[in-house]
Amino acid sequence: MAASTDAIPQDHTIGFIGLGAMGTPMAKRLAAAGFKLILVDADADRARALAKELTASQASTAREAAMQCRLLITMLPSSDIVAAVLEGEHGVLAGLQPGTLLIEMSSGSPARTRMFATQLEGRGARLIDAPVSGGVQRAISGDLAIMVGGDDRDIARAEPVLKAMGSSLLRTGAIGTAHAMKALNNLVSAGGLLISIEALLIGQRFGLNPGTMVDVLNASTGMNNSTQKKLKQFVLSRRFDAGFGLDLMVKDLGIAVDVAHDTDTEVPFASLCRDMWARASEVLGPGQDHTAIAKLCEQLAGSELRG
Ligand code: NAD
Repeated sequence: MAASTDAIPQDHTIGFIGLGAMGTPMAKRLAAAGFKLILVDADADRARALAKELTASQASTAREAAMQCRLLITMLPSSDIVAAVLEGEHGVLAGLQPGTLLIEMSSGSPARTRMFATQLEGRGARLIDAPVSGGVQRAISGDLAIMVGGDDRDIARAEPVLKAMGSSLLRTGAIGTAHAMKALNNLVSAGGLLISIEALLIGQRFGLNPGTMVDVLNASTGMNNSTQKKLKQFVLSRRFDAGFGLDLMVKDLGIAVDVAHDTDTEVPFASLCRDMWARASEVLGPGQDHTAIAKLCEQLAGSELRG
């Protein structure tokens, strides 16, 4: 059934920029909810193929998409890339219509996001930050947790769109707060995965079976999202393909530690966590899934986890 877009008819058309592991299933949910999409990606073949599959349109630049709609979504790797998509002769700002609402769904830097909002406001447009949690599987099922920061009226306007992609909309406050929250969520998630892997390595050396350990953790107070959804599925199976890049996690942890610095918060454990993930990225190289951090832990421990 089509989502309710009656309140603002022009919002029926959405320019969707960034069609990667997350953007593609999110765009599919919007298409299934009845929205008309104009798709943009640096990989033009990817955008073309998805446009064909969804009977949607493709724009060759962000500017072209901005000229054709009053609602834009960005789902890009980082705030640096969002800035590149906004600025320049082919960027969003060059084609922006007054009254446009940009929903920034990438996991970005709160400080940069506030600057983007000011840039847009100068052109009569608005921005909210709406990063997501739940990974590729929940993007496919339309069951994402969506954190939302910004003005009440802008959020109300975005709600029918967000509800087509997520089952929980979590209001966090002013613009930028959702991006801060997302980075802090990933700090907790990254710490949980890292300590769980180290616990398995210690236990295996002691004579425990790693699979049994995961079962015990999941029935005990050590349970976390990684013990439930990552250790057996992606680490012990040695698939290392959860769908969330190692480089993206390192970026998010950098944002979390930047927020700590900006707020004068002393966080030695969080800093160590960020450093370990950054080291994994250096040692393992580009193109790795975040669950591959287990390989760094194994190298340091001098043993490999057995499934
Ligand atoms: P991805 O690397 O799979 O996809 C990014 C897409 O952006 C690619 O299709 C790429 O071609 C496109 N792109 C890059 N530069 C561009 C440009 N200048 N113009 C247009 N398109 C450009 O990333 P992803 O996993 O989909 O993640 C997107 C965002 O969502 C990131 O901020 C990430 O941290 C966040 N996130 C990811 C997950 C996950 O499980 N993958 C979960 C929650 C949040």
